[in-house]
Amino acid sequence: MAVDKNWREKELSLKEVINKYPDVSPFIIIKTDAQRRGVDYTEAALSRVDVNVHQTVTRSFAVERSDQVDHSPFSLLLRDGTSILTGRDMVEGYRDPLVVDVVDDKIMILDDGEPLEEVFYWEKPDFYDKFTSSGKPMWHIAWARPLRIDLNPNQYCQFWETPGHGCKYCAIAATYKKSDKEQFVDLQDIDETVHEALKQPGRFTSIFLTGGTILDGEQLLDAEVEQYIQILKRVGRNFNGKRFPSQLIGTAFNKQQLQRIYDETGLMSYTADIEVLNEELFDWICPGKAAKIGYQEWKDRLYQAVDVFGRGYVNTGLVAGVEMATPKGFQTEEESLGRILEEAEELAKHGVSAVACVWNVAPGSMFFKQRTPSLEYYVKLSKGLDALRRKYHIHIDMDNYRRCGNHPDTDLSRV
Ligand code: SF4
Repeated sequence: MAVDKNWREKELSLKEVINKYPDVSPFIIIKTDAQRRGVDYTEAALSRVDVNVHQTVTRSFAVERSDQVDHSPFSLLLRDGTSILTGRDMVEGYRDPLVVDVVDDKIMILDDGEPLEEVFYWEKPDFYDKFTSSGKPMWHIAWARPLRIDLNPNQYCQFWETPGHGCKYCAIAATYKKSDKEQFVDLQDIDETVHEALKQPGRFTSIFLTGGTILDGEQLLDAEVEQYIQILKRVGRNFNGKRFPSQLIGTAFNKQQLQRIYDETGLMSYTADIEVLNEELFDWICPGKAAKIGYQEWKDRLYQAVDVFGRGYVNTGLVAGVEMATPKGFQTEEESLGRILEEAEELAKHGVSAVACVWNVAPGSMFFKQRTPSLEYYVKLSKGLDALRRKYHIHIDMDNYRRCGNHPDTDLSRV
């Protein structure tokens, strides 16, 4: 999609949104817009990348082929510790991206030529330069956020095996087909990589797992459950079998499967992403999830997960903004916010936290020609989700700005 040259005339600017919402940290508003519009780097900004120090796109899960070289920074930090998770695959959107440049010898993020804030490139963890005993570079096995070890043990999702069942905003199938990575990451390699990563003093505070859905098994999803149990058992050896700071984003497992994970591993928190908080839109946007599990059952499984893991330890992720995708999405931002927050409140009453990821229109997804909502919409949504957590006394420590850093709404929990 080509950039609409007049898009700035159709919505409040970043500066105007910052001024209109003095109760929301400007760092979080900048982050939200960067994740919505993407970020581009000038040559001067790229010249400040030191591959010996910084985490680059080449050494990340975002790289499709192991021989691909892209030394742009993988993501950014603001000076208050707010992370901006951004890639370089959003620059052809409806709006032009924010720009990272060097101004007065500082690396700054700019909008429309105006410097907004100093930014810092994420540092590379020590384990990225090490190898497993099977000879694989450890950065192939795990990647890192500033304080979190991330594992993606399955690079594919079985919903795509049935035509029309993939989620419409998701590019996992297109990415996997272009990739030279193996579908499954080897268990022994994971074991050795996590053990090595944990040796770095002061770096990591939690471990995170996610991967594509595996429908197989005696009961639906048993194979996915078994995969995570085996990994968590291995990782748990580093913690003497005790419960350890960890999060799993999996498919919506049934109560028996959830109980098994809780009993057999040290997993601390569980997330099953419902993606969009409206049944009709869920059926349209996530047809595989709708066909195999269903919207109401997905919610029931989240409630059952609270019985197993406890309040504050069960979340559900939203691809915030897809609820306004055309032609079936909500027509106005006002209606959309009202309907989404109403459903989020129902979840909160049951102890489940809804956390939003800013939808960026991914190339290779069915929604690649769609347009994301305004920045103001995202600010209002973040405030609404944060307010619900406060109203229902649900803490978000396992998904906050330090452990995850991907959700503007959970960033608000630090104030
Ligand atoms: S469940 Fe949906 S969003 Fe998740 S990997 Fe599969 S298709 Fe993509």
